[in-house]
Amino acid sequence: MNSTIKLYEEDVYRRDFCATVLACEPFGDAFRVALDATAFFPEGGGQPADKGALGEARVTDVKEKDGIIWHTVTVPLRKGACVQGDIDFTRRLDHMQQHSGEHIVSGIVHAQYGYNNVGFHIGDDTVTVDFSGVLTADDIENVEKSSNWIIWKNVSVNVTYPSPTELSHLEYRSKKEIDGQVRIVSIGKTDVCACCGTHVSRSSEVGIIKLISAQSYKGGMRVTMVCGMRALADYERKCKNVDAISVQLSAKPDETAAAVKRLADENIALHAQLAAAENKIFEKTADEFAGKSRAVCFEDNLSPDSQRRMCLALCEKCDGICAVFSKKDDGYQYAIGIKSGDVRDTVKALNAAHNGKGGGKPALCQGSVAKASREDVEKFFEKI
Ligand SMILES: [Zn+2]
Repeated sequence: MNSTIKLYEEDVYRRDFCATVLACEPFGDAFRVALDATAFFPEGGGQPADKGALGEARVTDVKEKDGIIWHTVTVPLRKGACVQGDIDFTRRLDHMQQHSGEHIVSGIVHAQYGYNNVGFHIGDDTVTVDFSGVLTADDIENVEKSSNWIIWKNVSVNVTYPSPTELSHLEYRSKKEIDGQVRIVSIGKTDVCACCGTHVSRSSEVGIIKLISAQSYKGGMRVTMVCGMRALADYERKCKNVDAISVQLSAKPDETAAAVKRLADENIALHAQLAAAENKIFEKTADEFAGKSRAVCFEDNLSPDSQRRMCLALCEKCDGICAVFSKKDDGYQYAIGIKSGDVRDTVKALNAAHNGKGGGKPALCQGSVAKASREDVEKFFEKI
């Protein structure tokens, strides 16, 4: 079978075409079809495959092997038939925007910082690009601004097929050694790269480039970015989220961070007030156990920290083991302590008897028992 003619290399905007079925064979739960020519881009170079339709069949995946482009289809197509192909062009344009945007960002990082693009992936929501060196927050801001300036300058994107001699004089980025004819994609003077993917023809079609985050990765940096329609969707989503927060806090959208900080500070102050009020009650309760040999209390709706403080207050007054139990699901959450001694063996025995977990230091342990009634717990402490 002859190599498939790649219509997407002749005209990247071609969204429909007619072609002859050269082969159709079962492929897993589906079928795979080879044509004499196709506008479907096969997965490659970090860019996902196109989707769409071939006649009555849906095209769910496209892969190239030894020059033949295989279309995974939902129903078989007759060998020799002429079929119409329709590309899901919204998906393709999205990939062209992400892919071309990645070239711009990689070209700028390479030119300004000397780092290489060592990994590239177009995911369903975002694009990740791995660079061989570290970029600071200021660098990321600079790369984003510089990248968008290339979009606004509306520079042309050109594809050329240089001869080996021309290639030897050309400075270009390349992800790996390529056999055979090298395809060079140039974006103005910003980037020159060997690439098999589909790209827009002018930089303005990328729309916008937004670098969402940058994290240290394998000694370099992993940058997560979105371009074009993905960037607009990201902006819409974030605006909606900020608007919802703004309404709830009665703060202007640009002042929500300060409003959240105030709320967090208030929350810390309220917690301190609550703890002070609780401590007073705990001290009063502890007075009732002054000089006694055991204190086992049941007090619901206490946080682990409140339980700890109540237990310590009891230990101050009571001479023996002190325990605070608060209802949790079918069992109890506990804090068990003693003024002088070691409660860890008691806690181990309690956990073993009532499917519990937890531990701590000799003077204080915390944990929970999964299945136990108040009577069970009281009986346990009567025995010790
Ligand atoms: Zn490319």
